[in-house]
Amino acid sequence: MAQRASNRVETPKLPPLTALRVLARVWQFLVPYRWRVAVAAVALIVAATAMLALGQGLKAVVDRGFLAGNPVELDRTLGWALVVIVVMAVASYLRFYCVAWLGGRVTADLRRKVFDHLLTLPPGWFEVSRTGEVIARMTSDTAMLEAVVGWTASMALRNLLLLAGGLVMLALTSAKLTVMVLVVVPFVVAPIVVLGRRVRRLSRATQDRVGDVGAYVDEALHEIRTVQAYVHEAEDRGALRARVEATFDAAREQISLRATTIATVILVVYAAIGLVLWVGGHDVLDGRMTAGDLSAFVFYAIIVASAVASMSELIGQLQRAAGATERLFELLAVRSDIRSPDRPAALPVPPRGEIAFRDVTFRYPSRPDHVALERVSIDVRPGEHVALVGPSGAGKTTVFQLLLRFYDPQQGSVRIDGVDVREADPAEVRCRVAVVPQEPVVFAASVLENVRYGRPDASDEEVRAACDAAYATEFIERLPEAHETFLGERGVRLSGGQRQRIAIARAVLADRPILLLDEATSALDAESERMVQLALERLMSHRTTLVIAHRLATVRHADRIVVMDRGRVIASGTHDELVRDSALYARLAELQFVAT
Ligand code: ADP
Repeated sequence: MAQRASNRVETPKLPPLTALRVLARVWQFLVPYRWRVAVAAVALIVAATAMLALGQGLKAVVDRGFLAGNPVELDRTLGWALVVIVVMAVASYLRFYCVAWLGGRVTADLRRKVFDHLLTLPPGWFEVSRTGEVIARMTSDTAMLEAVVGWTASMALRNLLLLAGGLVMLALTSAKLTVMVLVVVPFVVAPIVVLGRRVRRLSRATQDRVGDVGAYVDEALHEIRTVQAYVHEAEDRGALRARVEATFDAAREQISLRATTIATVILVVYAAIGLVLWVGGHDVLDGRMTAGDLSAFVFYAIIVASAVASMSELIGQLQRAAGATERLFELLAVRSDIRSPDRPAALPVPPRGEIAFRDVTFRYPSRPDHVALERVSIDVRPGEHVALVGPSGAGKTTVFQLLLRFYDPQQGSVRIDGVDVREADPAEVRCRVAVVPQEPVVFAASVLENVRYGRPDASDEEVRAACDAAYATEFIERLPEAHETFLGERGVRLSGGQRQRIAIARAVLADRPILLLDEATSALDAESERMVQLALERLMSHRTTLVIAHRLATVRHADRIVVMDRGRVIASGTHDELVRDSALYARLAELQFVAT
């Protein structure tokens, strides 16, 4: 079984300075909420200061309360400590709330911005970048940014403040012990950093294994009919078992490393505290410092040590988040080549519905060495019905794509109503063209909404009228909830002919002067076929129509037929002329077109 392409993407980890530069750019998304940022910053500073003040409280409790044997002083000091604790709690609430709020807000803004931007990119861009990866960026990269804005960045700042403040307080309390602590700190931090790094590497490996399991289950369940029809269950069971066990093996290694990390941390941290208590304890006994100072010192030393330990983790997270952020910015920086010029040419009003391809040569960006259209010239007069025929790969669909300006030709020009589409606003060009594709698209929405896609501001009556015109009402009324019936993924499934008529109703509602129709190749049942034909005839009347024809009936009704082969126009005329003059056409006609 081929593996389904996984949509996971690795997040690169940027070097610290680059990471800072990238993260600084996130500020532009915070500017609208700068007051909230200010509140969060003040709360952060107040909470950190309160935390440091508690050390002084501890010192006062020990020296002036316990040792002086003064219960009144003890009560008073603890009373003050309680006030400080309340201040710290309130400030922490404010910081947490504001920062998480900002994280959520910035992510929401960014997701909207990225999606809005993606909608402006031409189909060609999506061919070269994998859509799965783009979706992953939309979801996981923005989630990572949310974690940074909503948590990591503020935690890093908080720890930085505690680290700096804690060091100052340590030095003020006992310079000698501080020097000792600074010597010990690297020994505490090193194992945490080294082991932590290995744990993270392993945890990534575990996630990859979990991803493999997910991909396999996804594929097996999607293709459950094939699995069961070929009685392939035993093989699938074996394959999944291997993947699940690989996941467990990866996890087991990680578990043992984590256990080692915890034990090491406990050992070095408490040994270090013991060392401080031993040296400090002797100082207290010798009267070189008070017991309160020693208590405060241990308190600050713990604060400093935990700040240092979490900083290494936080810095790693920031670097990864910077990688994610950079990719999002890259996505936002992609500029579409298919843009409106600064001063777009206006298309004539009222529209005439005239199409002209002049000497168009075109290669797809994803296949630059292959000529999809070569010096193609096609003229379609207003109201004319022209059929495009030719073997598969001749370039018929490409003609449609250029007309909708999904791509620009390398040579020649495509004109609508006498205006080169490159000089007009692409939206205005597309508003003159309605498309009925070969495989009509039905969205996961009601019948009404599906048809209304053609013109979002249409009233229910107009939508129903369009359904009537497309001969669709007949089957819609037999659906469980008529026009309100939910279609698509988990809704009612429509037959090929019914989908066609929904697409035709959509085009009727859009009511545009040019119609591009790609005929269905799959055979419809006779009744559906007749209905679709009637619906199309009504849609085509009074409209310039370019149809990729697969049926003899369609070409016979066309005013003119253009025969294409390997990117060129090789003949054009009426059916009878072409049967006589074009060997390729004669052969296609003999085969009744359908197979092409
Ligand atoms: P037809 O509609 O007549 O079957 P197309 O217009 O789809 O033919 O294709 C014309 C040529 O362009 C074919 O050789 C096809 O392989 C190539 N082609 C079509 N679409 C793309 C694309 N998106 N990227 C690269 N090549 C393409």
